[in-house]
Amino acid sequence: MVFESLSEKLQNALGKLKGKGKLTEKDVDIAMREVKLALLEADVNFKVVKKFINDVKERAVGSEVMESLTPGQQVIKIVNEELTKLMGESESKLEFSSNPPTVILMCGLQGAGKTTTAGKLALLLKKQNKRPLLVACDVYRPAAIKQLEVVGERVSVPVFTMGDKNDPVDIAKAGVEHGKKNGNDIVIIDTAGRLHIDENLMEELQNIKEAVNPREILLVVDSMTGQDAVTVAETFNEKLDITGVVLTKLDGDARGGAALSIRAVTEKPIKFAGMGEKMEQLEPFHPDRMASRILG
Ligand code: GDP
Repeated sequence: MVFESLSEKLQNALGKLKGKGKLTEKDVDIAMREVKLALLEADVNFKVVKKFINDVKERAVGSEVMESLTPGQQVIKIVNEELTKLMGESESKLEFSSNPPTVILMCGLQGAGKTTTAGKLALLLKKQNKRPLLVACDVYRPAAIKQLEVVGERVSVPVFTMGDKNDPVDIAKAGVEHGKKNGNDIVIIDTAGRLHIDENLMEELQNIKEAVNPREILLVVDSMTGQDAVTVAETFNEKLDITGVVLTKLDGDARGGAALSIRAVTEKPIKFAGMGEKMEQLEPFHPDRMASRILG
């Protein structure tokens, strides 16, 4: 299960407080030291951890204990609330253009799950009675276009391609035009990824952004890559001013670092979570549910 180790350690650290009728500052200190270690071991960004611990301590020490709770339960409640805050407080929904089609630009490193997520998102939107179109702008990776076509077929969503001999910026523009003509109210653009962030990739994405003015720029990151995912998010955000993040592979045994740091570091919301390889396995990201899951 995702975050298993973190979850276990946090429950362990906080469990000790649960039964206590009275809490001294020392009790809280000891528990929070364990919480801190657990978060660092889960690969959460150290600045994020530091602020988190300070925020919890400040609230725990200063707060009036609610009558219905033991002091220990009160601390757990605060940790839960602060974890939720860390991940963005509440669900952050997709934005739609008032003047359709809504253009959604998908970006990210190769292997993060971009193409899969593009298909999943198309399916999710189709279920909301939208009429999405997928556009294949990855002209570099062999079989990338074919892969999007296969994904499109799986979710019964049309795919616009111009082969691999055209400029991705032109394909993106033509794709949006095609969508307009055919009554597609959503155009999802799948772009090329690289193994590492490079200048050419960024420049191409900036050019596509300029050409099609996307309402959403969703960065797809692999939650299994921990702090690397956070660095990737920072860089993409700097260059493209992304509108949101999709965390993939949360069905795996990711430690938690990416999920718990990305929002705080980039100040951009996590909008969706990829929960498996199947097309149905994309969910809106709920910070409160995730926090509760971590705390058990
Ligand atoms: P791209 O290079 O970014 O377009 O990545 P792909 O869409 O080709 O995905 C790379 C691999 O990750 C594929 O094998 C996908 O099936 C897998 N994948 C994508 N999202 C998820 C997810 O949420 N969970 C799991 N378990 N696998 C995923």
